[in-house]
Amino acid sequence: MAWFSRKYKASTHTPDHVKSVLEASVRPPVLSSSSPEREQRILEAGTHMLDLARNHKSGLLSKQFYQDKIMDWSMKDHNFKVQMFRFVDAFPALTTPEMVHDHLVDYMTQPGVKAPPGMDLALKAGGVAKGLAAKTISGQITGMAHNFIAGTDAADALPMLTKLWKQGIAFSVDLLGEACVSNAEADAYQAKYLDLVENLVDTASGWEANERLERDHLGIVPRVNVSIKVSSLCALFNPIAPESSIEDFMVRAAPILEAAKRNGVLINFDMEHFAFKDLTLDTFMHACDTHEFEAGLAMQAYLKSGVDDAKLICEWAQRTGRVVTVRLVKGAYWDFETIHAEQEGWPCPVWNEKWQTDQCFEEMVKVFLDHCPTKAGEGGVKLALGSHNVRSIAAALAGLKERGLGMETIELQMLHGMADQLKYAAAEMGLRVREYVPVGEMIPGMAYLVRRLLENTSNESWLKAGFLDNADTATLLMDPANKGAGIDKQDLYMIAPERHELTPPDEMVGNARPFYTEPMRDFADAHQRGMFEQAVKAAVVPEVENDRTPEQANEMVARAHSVFGAWRDFDPYERARVLTLTAGMMRAQRDELAGVVCKESSKTWREADADVCEAIDFCEYYARLAPKMFNSHRLGRFIGELDELWYQPKGVAVVISPWNFPLAICCGMTAAALVTGNTVVVKPAEQTPGIAKIMFEFMTNALAQVGAPDGVLQFCPSLGETTGAALVRDLRVGVIAFTGSKAVGLDIIEAAAVTPEDQLHVKRVVCEMGGKNAIIVDTSADLDEAVLGVRYSSFAFQGQKCSACSRCIVVDPEGPNGQRMRLFLERLGEATKTLVLGRADDPNSDVSPVIDGEAAGNINRFIESARSEGLTELVGTKDFPEITIDDLIAPHIFTGVTETSTIYTQEIFGPVLAVIHAKDFDEALRMANGHTYKLTGGIFTRKPTHIDRAKREFRVGNLYINRGCTGALVGRQPFGGFGMSGVGSKAGGPDYLMQFVDPRACCENTMRRGFAPEL
Ligand SMILES: Cc1cc2nc3c(=O)[nH]c(=O)nc-3n(C[C@H](O)[C@H](O)[C@H](O)COP(=O)(O)OP(=O)(O)OC[C@H]3O[C@@H](n4cnc5c(N)ncnc54)[C@H](O)[C@@H]3O)c2cc1C
Repeated sequence: MAWFSRKYKASTHTPDHVKSVLEASVRPPVLSSSSPEREQRILEAGTHMLDLARNHKSGLLSKQFYQDKIMDWSMKDHNFKVQMFRFVDAFPALTTPEMVHDHLVDYMTQPGVKAPPGMDLALKAGGVAKGLAAKTISGQITGMAHNFIAGTDAADALPMLTKLWKQGIAFSVDLLGEACVSNAEADAYQAKYLDLVENLVDTASGWEANERLERDHLGIVPRVNVSIKVSSLCALFNPIAPESSIEDFMVRAAPILEAAKRNGVLINFDMEHFAFKDLTLDTFMHACDTHEFEAGLAMQAYLKSGVDDAKLICEWAQRTGRVVTVRLVKGAYWDFETIHAEQEGWPCPVWNEKWQTDQCFEEMVKVFLDHCPTKAGEGGVKLALGSHNVRSIAAALAGLKERGLGMETIELQMLHGMADQLKYAAAEMGLRVREYVPVGEMIPGMAYLVRRLLENTSNESWLKAGFLDNADTATLLMDPANKGAGIDKQDLYMIAPERHELTPPDEMVGNARPFYTEPMRDFADAHQRGMFEQAVKAAVVPEVENDRTPEQANEMVARAHSVFGAWRDFDPYERARVLTLTAGMMRAQRDELAGVVCKESSKTWREADADVCEAIDFCEYYARLAPKMFNSHRLGRFIGELDELWYQPKGVAVVISPWNFPLAICCGMTAAALVTGNTVVVKPAEQTPGIAKIMFEFMTNALAQVGAPDGVLQFCPSLGETTGAALVRDLRVGVIAFTGSKAVGLDIIEAAAVTPEDQLHVKRVVCEMGGKNAIIVDTSADLDEAVLGVRYSSFAFQGQKCSACSRCIVVDPEGPNGQRMRLFLERLGEATKTLVLGRADDPNSDVSPVIDGEAAGNINRFIESARSEGLTELVGTKDFPEITIDDLIAPHIFTGVTETSTIYTQEIFGPVLAVIHAKDFDEALRMANGHTYKLTGGIFTRKPTHIDRAKREFRVGNLYINRGCTGALVGRQPFGGFGMSGVGSKAGGPDYLMQFVDPRACCENTMRRGFAPEL
């Protein structure tokens, strides 16, 4: 989605050494520029095509499209466009005229939006007029969709395909679809593709022959051409596990490829998001290596890897003697890729500037033309241009000329509903022209429609420049290299710390830049994946006995107490350095640490990686915040009166950490206590002392490097009931940082409140407890997102995160058996059944064993209680292959849940989800709030007023809108709840450290005999 501002402000805080790194990133284009002769040829071919197109009478769709009322308004007002396109995205979910009107009013009354004349009256309509207004807007949107979508299915689209053929235009049919989230949906896609491949041929074979469309320089070109999306045939198409993804894909693809071979149909593999790119290339080559069929592949020039990708495919084709067609496109997901890369902190895979994409397109054309087979029997690539840009097309035509190749060597492909004049012009020029014709229902079609709307209205769009803005020929055909003047915009990830400024920079801390979250591993990258795999294999969990006795704990507190004064008075910047040194050590061994987490706590790859990243983040973040707390801050500017405020550490801290974030939380609490000058005794969870020991060793090493006194940090692996209990009751302890269950948390709070005579202070307890988190799925939710968001939030790490979703509240005004409820449950159920159960160190696994036998026993008792209370088991053990791994519990989803059901009220800490029905949004909010826990919550909705209400009324510590409710990031989503979820401030937030210090204030009278220095 493109609701993203591409503008950013350079930070004023960029330090010099950072500036030099950033300046180095302004690199000259890697792509070569054109010669004057070549430019002349391009100009000639392009001018000819443009003249033909502009004079063409029969296809004025492009112009008409812009004249459509909604488009006209969108072009004139950016704010209107944003809200209108958002409304279009939500539109298919709106099933009644009231909903349509309501949502339209919501979107059009957003700040900064001015409804155009005509529409403003419709918005104010009441009664019958409301229905009329809804009908009008519905008609307009459906009309726009019909511009781009040829029919609901192949049969519906056939008259259009026949008409196109008669007009001298071939086709490639594409199935529009929802995201494929389950095996059942992948099976359904397979059936539809098979239907196309088997049945289109019958009709097409009756069409008149057309030499231009059916023959290239090597021979026959198939009439029927079907485009498939690899991710639609494999619900778990996932680069983290490439082999099994390809295997699973081939199970469904093989019959399609066989049918295609039998029927002489070309199968084109579309290209999707960058994360799938390498896997799609591998899948395509594998399919070609194992099956004889007419094969096509879309490749994207907006990728920085475009030229290398082109060479890879060409070399493979020549080596294997295979002839394939490559449809070269620029790429449909530029906004998404840019946004996603920034969110992840990864290098952006797409070019920053449009001219670079255009230039890369031309470079890739050269590569493909150089590898075009010239005679039958030779392997190589036949080029199809997927572009509406006459400059890009003309560059390819010039390339043909330069190589003495004929027009029939290449093909021109364009989208249905776009640039009709160009299609006819190209046909007149003798080119083979093919339309990409999407078929499908309105709901899945909307995402496609929104992409087309964005493409057509983008200021970067050649079509808009050519057909709406009527730019002159020279500008339209200009060499892209001349547009860029050799300057590339900086990649956002390079300036991320300064751009976001999550903390102020401090020249004395770390790399002197503001804090920025540690980017997680990109498992689509074979190198990163390979390194991680090796590290996980080699990881050995340190053996640690939880055998420290209360007496030993007593000694540890005594030592910690004795060195407190020295650590309290230590240079705060040196204390911060302990954290940045620790972060550095963890970063240097990131994958190894993740391997230990994976093995010790059964976290799957991604979860283990995230755990380590979060630990690094806590160190880097708190290191930047702490030192300034110990400077005195002057309050006011009174003459003769110096008012100051500063902080001092509390004393001995006891850290009691949980097993579910065995490194991150242990490290976060310890780092916070240490950097604020407290001495610390760490008692890790009994299940995960191994990774805690590594953390302790890193920190001890860092402490030694800064010359800290011995005893500042001590490690106390032990049992909670005995040694843990003794630690929290020790009179010398000033602060206890605890994360864990409500029962233990409340016990600690109670114990800490006891103040014997000889205790000199009141203890502070920083306490994070559980959650019973709810996600609301509203009537206008995007189900693709909601299903995946609820599934991940409920079952990632086996539902053992305190933020995990365990209650899902589905709004359906039609009742518990209403259409929305059924559709959501069907998709969620099937999506969940598709999850893979297995060992955590196997990258294929989505769900691994729970932490131990005791936890498994508890979870199973809850599952039994749900059954005995008569709830419906939508998903359970029966739906998964039998695997004998200890403590492995399949995801469970129960429906028919009421507000008194045990699994609805009790915290479970396992893969059990209770789904409950709400008749409207008010009831959903009431239910969501109706629990004593107040940790996280989520809502999937596309109604702006419901988003606003949720922000105000859904009272939880961390609210997530239109995304899953887990995965808080340090500095970006400070984490923590209230109610029975905790008493502390938010971990990873700006005021967390305050809990480890006491404030001190001083007022000095600086006046002497009526004289003060300031006067
Ligand atoms: C037949 C056909 C099949 C297609 N199949 C696929 C497919 O499988 N996968 C896929 O991803 N797309 C596919 N597309 C969509 C295609 O990517 C877009 O339609 C195409 O990018 C539009 O390019 P253009 O040359 O027509 O227009 P132009 O206006 O010249 O180019 C627009 C394109 O430039 C790029 N761009 C825009 N802004 C910037 C910027 N600031 N910096 C860098 N680049 C920028 C984007 O890719 C944008 O789409 C297909 C298109 C056609 C015609």
